[in-house]
Amino acid sequence: MDLLTANDKQGKYPPSYYAEHATQLEKFPCLKNEIQADVCIVGGGFTGLSTALHLAQSGYKVALLEAQRLGFGASGRNGGQVSGGQRMDQEGLEAMLGNEHAKALWGISQQSVDLVRNLSADMDDCGVVDGIIHTAHRKRYVNEEHAYTDHLRNKYGYDKIRNLSCEETRDLINSPAYFGGTLDMGAGHIDPLRYALGLARKCVDLGVMLYEQSKVIDLKPGDPAKIKTEHGSVSAKFVVLACNGYLGRLNSRVAARVMPINNFIIATEPMSEEAQEALIKNNHAVADSKFVVNYFRFSPDRRLLFGGSESYGYKFPNDIAAAVRKPMLEIYPQLKNTRIDYAWGGTLGITMNRMPHFERIGGNILSASGYSGHGVAMATMGGKMAADAIRGQAEQFDFMASVPSPRFPGGAMLRSPLLVLAMLWFSMRDRL
Ligand SMILES: Cc1cc2nc3c(=O)[nH]c(=O)nc-3n(C[C@H](O)[C@H](O)[C@H](O)COP(=O)(O)OP(=O)(O)OC[C@H]3O[C@@H](n4cnc5c(N)ncnc54)[C@H](O)[C@@H]3O)c2cc1C
Repeated sequence: MDLLTANDKQGKYPPSYYAEHATQLEKFPCLKNEIQADVCIVGGGFTGLSTALHLAQSGYKVALLEAQRLGFGASGRNGGQVSGGQRMDQEGLEAMLGNEHAKALWGISQQSVDLVRNLSADMDDCGVVDGIIHTAHRKRYVNEEHAYTDHLRNKYGYDKIRNLSCEETRDLINSPAYFGGTLDMGAGHIDPLRYALGLARKCVDLGVMLYEQSKVIDLKPGDPAKIKTEHGSVSAKFVVLACNGYLGRLNSRVAARVMPINNFIIATEPMSEEAQEALIKNNHAVADSKFVVNYFRFSPDRRLLFGGSESYGYKFPNDIAAAVRKPMLEIYPQLKNTRIDYAWGGTLGITMNRMPHFERIGGNILSASGYSGHGVAMATMGGKMAADAIRGQAEQFDFMASVPSPRFPGGAMLRSPLLVLAMLWFSMRDRL
């Protein structure tokens, strides 16, 4: 099944706010000959670019093959929220893996946020803006949220998060839809496409061989492994699969564990400073407690970037703007006359237990994906961990690979109808 629209097939970024506002890079060449590399990376999102960057820093000869444009996938289209923790919360991880492993996963997540902050620090067109507010959309969730903050503060010594009462929440976010929440100043938000292109620029400076519109169509394990595109090939000692929701059928083991789903964002017309402050104070980002999470923040030119709504088949809705405007007006009815200037969607990879899926497929092929909507920081870290494993420091990669990663029932072929039913049930619960 082909996930790409006609526009995508021409190797263009989707018409998002990000793509219209980032300084794009000249197109990199399509691979048209046979080359050799120490490491071949498949996929040019945060995972692939971070792997390439960290390996090139250690002097490896790296080739990166991207089917479309660098940052074309989820990395260039997402909500930009850079948050610590894993997609599964610490209490869930403690129950599943025990305290020690849960603590190690917390530590890795905090390193991932630091990594994004450090890597973006010298990018002059983007950087991390501090603060994510997490909001409860039902009164009954507030105590739970506050107890979790206490858990993080007491058990993990994490003191950058604090509880918000209903009044404080509504003062910060002028919406009747929320009843309390938390403010995490250790987390933040970033322009994701600018960040991805910033990573690509660093790769260029370090001599990474970057190829665009070079879709990998076959991967033969071995030493060296043979990676074939439509017009060329790479022989490499190591391969890193960094394809996430766009993997298709390239590897059936990963495809049975990482499933593509779509999520959508709109950008309003620019607003005045006063209008921005009247919706979200202090330029924080927001994410709520719904199963289909609403997440929103302002762009530097003061547009509200509002994400919400998901689809589980292979098609995007015909009218993305209308689909996302609906949840936006539930949060901010005052925006009913505000123009929507951009609407786009992206595909992410989710796993059964919402923990990322790291795997060694044979000795010299690694795969990192399935960040389940929590990948701005963790995909950057996933790339670093894959690079470390190739550099001979495999502890963190192998630790992540040891986290259970069940197959979806039905495997890659039959999982969709079952998952659609489950997701629809959970999303209906948002309304209860
Ligand atoms: C709408 C949306 C909102 C999101 N919001 C957030 C958020 O606010 N915070 C957060 O933490 N996470 C968020 N996420 C998730 C986050 O964007 C991803 O987890 C992260 O970008 C994954 O990076 P990646 O490099 O693994 O995958 P991607 O960025 O998807 O990159 C995979 C790349 O592989 C390429 N590729 C695939 N197959 C091949 C092949 N055969 N040959 C060559 N290239 C190939 C694709 O073209 C693609 O560019 C969101 C995702 C979406 C879609």
